[in-house]
Amino acid sequence: MSILNHHAHDDNCIFCKIVAGEIPSKKVYEDEDLLAFHDIKPWAPIHFLMIPKAHIPSMAQLTPEHEQMMGKIMVKAGELALSQGALPYPEGGFRIVANTGHHGGQEVHHLHVHVLAGERPWQKI
Ligand code: AMP
Ligand code: ZN
Repeated sequence: MSILNHHAHDDNCIFCKIVAGEIPSKKVYEDEDLLAFHDIKPWAPIHFLMIPKAHIPSMAQLTPEHEQMMGKIMVKAGELALSQGALPYPEGGFRIVANTGHHGGQEVHHLHVHVLAGERPWQKI
């Protein structure tokens, strides 16, 4: 059973279209609540996004009903980074970024967590 009872969907949202299979993606992981796929413009040798399947615009809209789903994203991130070739902690590791709102640098308004890993230097951060 999915954590959220129904998946909110926004017809104009590019990540909802990826969830629906209307836009292709290079999938890293999928279950009933989450999708992880490679970023189309990677900033690091390993760069994928983790999103809830439900349309939530950003971190700013999170409520206690999302705790389990966000926890799942955080717990899965490291496992998926390793599966994509990240070296183990502490020599390797990974970075998690969640841009939120205009000042936060958010461009796509469907909540997503960037997972970045691999040998430095990286392009952006
Ligand atoms: P943000 O600035 O945090 O909203 O970042 C949005 C990210 O989504 C950027 O890193 C884009 O490269 C990425 N992105 C946009 N469209 C796609 C797509 N169709 N497939 C994969 N990644 C995408
Ligand atoms: Zn969406």
